Amino acid sequence: MTLDRRNLLKAAGAAGALNLVWPLSAGLSPAQAREAAEALGADYDPAPFTLGVASGDPQPTGVVLWTRLAPEPLAAEQRLPEVVEVGWVVAEDQALSRVVARGTAPASATLGHSVHVPVGGLAAGRHYWYAFTALGRTSRVGRTRTAPAGAVSRVRFAAANCQAFHDGYYAAHRGIAREDVDFVVHLGDYIYEHGPAGGDHVRDHEGPAVLTLADYRRRHALYKGDASLREAHAAHPWFLTWDDHEVANDYSGTGGGAPFLQRRAAAYQAWYENMPHRDASATSALPDPEIHRVRRWGDLLELTVLDLRSHRSAQNLPNGTILGAGQKDWLKGTIDRAPDSWHVWANSIMLSQLRSRPGGPYMFTDQWDGFLAERKEVLNHVHTSGLEDLVVITGDWHSAFVDDIRTDFDDTSSPLVGTEFTAHSVTSGAYSADWNAANGPLMGKANPHLKYFEGNRYGYDVYEVTPERFSAHMRVIADRRDPVSPVTTLTTFHVDRGRPGSYEDPATRNSPAQWRRD
Ligand code: FE
Ligand code: CA
Repeated sequence: MTLDRRNLLKAAGAAGALNLVWPLSAGLSPAQAREAAEALGADYDPAPFTLGVASGDPQPTGVVLWTRLAPEPLAAEQRLPEVVEVGWVVAEDQALSRVVARGTAPASATLGHSVHVPVGGLAAGRHYWYAFTALGRTSRVGRTRTAPAGAVSRVRFAAANCQAFHDGYYAAHRGIAREDVDFVVHLGDYIYEHGPAGGDHVRDHEGPAVLTLADYRRRHALYKGDASLREAHAAHPWFLTWDDHEVANDYSGTGGGAPFLQRRAAAYQAWYENMPHRDASATSALPDPEIHRVRRWGDLLELTVLDLRSHRSAQNLPNGTILGAGQKDWLKGTIDRAPDSWHVWANSIMLSQLRSRPGGPYMFTDQWDGFLAERKEVLNHVHTSGLEDLVVITGDWHSAFVDDIRTDFDDTSSPLVGTEFTAHSVTSGAYSADWNAANGPLMGKANPHLKYFEGNRYGYDVYEVTPERFSAHMRVIADRRDPVSPVTTLTTFHVDRGRPGSYEDPATRNSPAQWRRD
């Protein structure tokens, strides 16, 4: 394939060909929508498990297993009974012959016929395989892994973010599926609430914005139509946070009043229905997902998952908050109680200061730069509590950055407290090569803590962690227009245990980048 999905749609418009349309256009029947999705490279697992299987939130004794029944994935309503009994099985082998747990769970129309099965009683630090049955059919077999307990000498995990369906194929997820990793972290922008942007014909056909539960369900179903995404879910357990586009661009707090709150509730529900998320906090039948949590990978790594969307205020307020008071207190307590290990924060949107040019303004204040007092408070708390070996992994930017984190980014003598790795996007469009070439050096000079910037590529990060060293491998795909684009390692950065600050691996220091601090 030589066209990305957006160009494919543009080309169809220019040629007046009506057989290529945005699959979520108004007025299409479910079958027509599916045909349109397939014309853009989607395919689905056999019904009713069209959207595949997934697992999430691995702990030493269990994981959450997920599937959702959607015989017509792009239909606004599934033609299914109100409640369908779904069977599940967990085994020690791929053939599912050595069964260790099984049961049934109700898939109800209320939750989009999704099931989230919290499986317990498993052994720590090992692979398991699982599958579902419903309506006389069996799903594909997924593989998952429990967290280890006790002494751990190595962990490998991947981080993905920003996967606009209309911007390309998920070769990056194909790569993740094939990685030897223990788990995957998704850093947000799993879906985009808008379709192909810009003045092309597709926008005209797209109809009103995504607003209702049915709209968001169909959007998630379209994205799961990329086989590589289903493959990555079926290969590894995932931890999840979200950013803005799961709901609406750059949203915050409750701005927008009642109509926005309804929209947000629809978006959150559809997200929950389509994710292997453990919502342990749920106090009612309808989800209002709680994202933030802390998990351990034996004695080697503590993972703190942050929610930088649900609880934030508007940006640029003197007392603004990106975490919300409750999550901020919780994070400080987590820092106070942290074990002696690596500490990783799954952080959807950039923590480090980013000025656009020397003496210039902040590039974006939708990220932590719009919440200065709170950033200072949190980073000072990291320092005064003596937390060491902090690595922050970040999405949102559609470009790769490496930043060393100081308690005061404007004071180059203030303490270094960690490193932030911002990963390339899976597909979502970055700035142009010209913009990157011009602005990489400007950002580098304006931000003394910025070590590296590369914005011309797409991919994901793989992190390899031992007691002595944290290494970030930037995996990039050759071409997002190619669904099987090969994956290579662009460069590797390291952080040594007990010594704050990152350094690039000498073997990859000559790789292309638009800024690199010597
Ligand atoms: Fe994004
Ligand atoms: Ca974003």
